[in-house]
Amino acid sequence: MIIIKFGGTSVQDVSSIRSVINIIKTKLHKQPVVVVSAVAGVTNQLIESARCAVAGKKEESIGILNNLRNRHLEIAEDLIKDSGELDNVNKAIDDIVTKLANLVEGVSLIGELTNRSLDMFAAQGELLSSHVIAPAMKEADMAVQWFDARQVMVTDDQFAGAVPNIPLLADKCRTLIRPLFNECQVVLTQGFIGSTSSGVTTTLGRGGSDYSAALLGAAMDAEDIEIWTDVDGVLTTDPRIVTHARRVKQMSFREASELAYFGAKVLHPATIIPAVEKNIPVHVYNTKNPDFGGTLIAATLHLSTEAQSSSCVIKSIAFKKDITVFNITSSRMLLAHGYLYSIFEIFKKHKTAVDVVSTTEVSVSLTIDNLENLDSIVRDLSVFSQVQVESRRAIVCLVGEQMRKTAGIAARTFGAIRDININMVSQGASEINLTFVIDEKDVDTVVKRLHDEFFSGPLPVDIFE
Ligand code: ADP
Ligand code: ASP
Ligand code: MG
Repeated sequence: MIIIKFGGTSVQDVSSIRSVINIIKTKLHKQPVVVVSAVAGVTNQLIESARCAVAGKKEESIGILNNLRNRHLEIAEDLIKDSGELDNVNKAIDDIVTKLANLVEGVSLIGELTNRSLDMFAAQGELLSSHVIAPAMKEADMAVQWFDARQVMVTDDQFAGAVPNIPLLADKCRTLIRPLFNECQVVLTQGFIGSTSSGVTTTLGRGGSDYSAALLGAAMDAEDIEIWTDVDGVLTTDPRIVTHARRVKQMSFREASELAYFGAKVLHPATIIPAVEKNIPVHVYNTKNPDFGGTLIAATLHLSTEAQSSSCVIKSIAFKKDITVFNITSSRMLLAHGYLYSIFEIFKKHKTAVDVVSTTEVSVSLTIDNLENLDSIVRDLSVFSQVQVESRRAIVCLVGEQMRKTAGIAARTFGAIRDININMVSQGASEINLTFVIDEKDVDTVVKRLHDEFFSGPLPVDIFE
């Protein structure tokens, strides 16, 4: 059994979905569970529709829904010629859009948009795309079973970032998904969405389809988790900044986790966790370039001696913008025990994750990216410290297992950007990343220069394309 996940751009139009269908066809012998995202841009449009509704712009909101209906219908009409199937698809799309229109009414009437209602909007994108793709697969002679992921992905009620019940997922996959293969060749389901135990729709957070795929893979002891996207795999950095970024052929689970956590959008930050637990390899492939090798992410890598002794120790450079830095100072910190505890307790109380931390004897600097409770955090910290907040910062993170064994990485890194102001520096205990904070406006320059520094010479061919 394998999991094959296709992201939004992989299902964005008729020709992309045709490529997806061709890819799935070559894998039918492996009992694939296919996980699809919403069509590219659709989740954003659904959220926009919800925001218009709560702002009282009902017409705009309904206009967005009508566009979504037409976009899906047009795709369906091109892909599905069998009139019976097409009628069913039309009906499924209409039902979803009618339900959304009712939601628009409700939200604009109440004038309040909770995360619970927002999830109800956002989740429809994956339902729409899967209702179009399943019959298109049928049309291409595949015995496919459409499956509602909410039946197995039971979560808590933290809407917009719900936490799945993993043991229950495994149970439900065993009883509800496995037996489907007695009747069909391939199961098609949705990423991103789940449901509370009482049946209320939830989502796993933006970009969460990768996480759904990995969770399903672990729950079903899959041989492989394939993430199909719009680039040739995990690259040496974001190709939107460095157009000639190179493909990384293989990387470790730990490297991929760090990269995803520090902003490489190609993988949702939680994707690797379920794969690690079951030691399932994750492949990242390009839907537009299916014969290209992609990236293998696994526990152990097969490196040539050339690669092991190579001076190229960085695998990839990630960055995360829109970061806020807290500089917290107190003379009372000097020799005081429990001071750091008091600080982190406040971040815990306000459910805000801290990413990078560095401390001196009298001050602590740390970064967050969730500003929802900023004012309350500052208020609580100010009771026992002076707090200075700096916004529009960015984290840059260099990742590579070999860094651990190599001297001089920090010197090369900071030498290449010696004229840039660095706010904070941290080298994780794992020593596989070097992370620092800069002004957001410097990100492009820094990433380009570091990419030149570490990736412009000859690179070991078993690691890099
Ligand atoms: P999908 O819709 O398939 O989930 P995403 O847009 O979420 O795709 O992620 C793929 C995008 O991630 C790429 O188009 C690329 O712009 C971006 N990206 C950022 N960092 C990297 C990286 N290191 N390697 C590959 N892609 C990256
Ligand atoms: N469609 C969702 C989003 O845009 C989930 C995903 O694509 O992974 O966030
Ligand atoms: Mg994604």
